[in-house]
Amino acid sequence: MKKTIGVLAVQGAFAEHAVSLKKLNVNSIEIRQKSDLTNNHIDGIILPGGESTVMGKLLHELKLFDFLRDSIVKGLPVLGTCAGLILLAKTIVNDQNVYLGTMDIVAKRNAYGRQLGSFQADGEFADIGEVPMTFIRAPYIESASKNVKVLAQIDNHIVAAKQDNMMVTSFHPELSSDLSVHRFFLDLV
Ligand code: GLN
Repeated sequence: MKKTIGVLAVQGAFAEHAVSLKKLNVNSIEIRQKSDLTNNHIDGIILPGGESTVMGKLLHELKLFDFLRDSIVKGLPVLGTCAGLILLAKTIVNDQNVYLGTMDIVAKRNAYGRQLGSFQADGEFADIGEVPMTFIRAPYIESASKNVKVLAQIDNHIVAAKQDNMMVTSFHPELSSDLSVHRFFLDLV
């Protein structure tokens, strides 16, 4: 059966994820309010890049927060990219907020500073090989618990990781034509 993936669509770069999913023959549903989650069956969810502070606030305002967090804790597969990584992190070194806080990673926001706001790199990704990586005011993972599997590192910083049903990338896989990171996530689903 065709899989259906929810894409959190309250802010940020959500549309590009739907395009990548479509190329992989996967349905997507934009999640904008609680009923989008409660009235539809989804096999997984993507938390896109954008502004984590804004998204975190909107998750509460739109009453999405508790249901989404519970679903992830109960095992709903989730891919968090860039700001989505920050939303999932249990600790953010340079932000007092914790958002969904379900993944045992310590994230650093805007970790590459303002000068190096955006850059591209090719990096090794576990089980895939070289992957093009687009970073935009990106976080990285400063440290991770033992139960977290590191999937990619750039300059000794973790930029992709996985823990149980949760997967995160610092970079934006949806901004490249390479579909391998989405495919990797769909294998979790
Ligand atoms: N800098 C953003 C934040 O802290 C993340 C940037 C992005 O998602 N491209 O939330």
